[in-house]
Amino acid sequence: MSFCNLGLGEDAVHAAQRLRYLDPTPIQAQAIPVIISGKDLIGSAQTGTGKTAAFILPIVSQLKKHSHTRCLVLEPTRELAAQVKEASDDFTFFTNLRSSLLHGGVKYDRQHQELAQRPDIVIATPGRLLDHIENGAVKLDKIEVLVLDEADRMLDMGFMPDVRRIINYCNTNRQTLLFSATIPPRLADLIGWAMKEPLTIEIGRRSNPAETVQHVLYPVAMNQKDELLMALLDRTNYESVIVFSRTKVGADIFGHALQAKGHKAEVIHSDRSQGQRTKALELFRSGEVEVLVATDIAARGLDIEGVSHVINYDVPENPEDYVHRIGRTGRANRTGDALTIFTAPEQQYVTAIEYLINKPLPRVKLDNFNYTYTTLLQEAAGNDGRRKGASSRRKRR
Ligand code: AMP
Repeated sequence: MSFCNLGLGEDAVHAAQRLRYLDPTPIQAQAIPVIISGKDLIGSAQTGTGKTAAFILPIVSQLKKHSHTRCLVLEPTRELAAQVKEASDDFTFFTNLRSSLLHGGVKYDRQHQELAQRPDIVIATPGRLLDHIENGAVKLDKIEVLVLDEADRMLDMGFMPDVRRIINYCNTNRQTLLFSATIPPRLADLIGWAMKEPLTIEIGRRSNPAETVQHVLYPVAMNQKDELLMALLDRTNYESVIVFSRTKVGADIFGHALQAKGHKAEVIHSDRSQGQRTKALELFRSGEVEVLVATDIAARGLDIEGVSHVINYDVPENPEDYVHRIGRTGRANRTGDALTIFTAPEQQYVTAIEYLINKPLPRVKLDNFNYTYTTLLQEAAGNDGRRKGASSRRKRR
């Protein structure tokens, strides 16, 4: 299977070649012909599988010449929207199509100027887009393709009322594409209302994290979490690592503690300004900063190369968030390690994760760490899980 056989226009095929994509990924091979046929589509695929190209390449083929806003892509977070805009710029490279990125946290002026140029593709988060619609800066009555990306995440984040309002502004005679890990009942309602006889494509269940990721649990008493996290970071041979914290306050505290200890670390969560978030991601992507401390805002979909380790400072309450968090490593068949610190009250969340991914997670103890007693440690000791360091596979510096 090659990109030439999927019905894409020449410009889109050349764009894929320019990015050195040799063969379409499974979701691309299945979704592109359906999208070109004009049918509505529900797509589910693990992150990092090439989902963005699966919808933007056929859209680029269909839109052809620049005229007015004909495609709208909705994203749950600013970072994902920015990432899709970047991909869209790559995929429209050989065309004169224009795309515009609209999200909150930045000034309106530049977005107004861009909208005045009638971009062909608008990539937006729901709140800021509604502001622009209500100010008359953008009209959606000529939308030909609507993409609801990470739809379950938009639902979780409380965006559904906004999404419904936006859909009501769109041309009813449109194609609708929806990408989502799961289809909870409220999403099924939206699908029934907003889509016409959609086809469903499922590539690899979201509950199957990449095979190339090694998972380990580190049980510890509550009052030693910080100490253990520091010890894991000190002894782990990481290239770059994302540390996830359930709370923004926790992420801030830990980010500062790391910086105080001389680690190059940045923090990303929703209370930081857009400028700070963008800078943190840029520094992390470029390798200048090797530790990114993040809340779940960074867990979905972000495509960051070479993340060798994910460390969970706490066990996510929602098992799917665990799969998303660790999906930041082990991408594109590279190896990765997922280390999760866990305390006794989190046992129920661990059980839910093990049930979802359908395998037990080994409990291990870090050698030469001065543990205080917790019942969890007995389990770990009986697990044959002692490790010399957090990951002895790589040598660091
Ligand atoms: P996504 O799932 O859209 O976040 O894409 C994950 C990564 O895979 C991105 O870095 C893409 O540039 C890359 N990618 C997408 N499609 C292909 C392909 N057919 N061949 C190689 N890499 C790809």
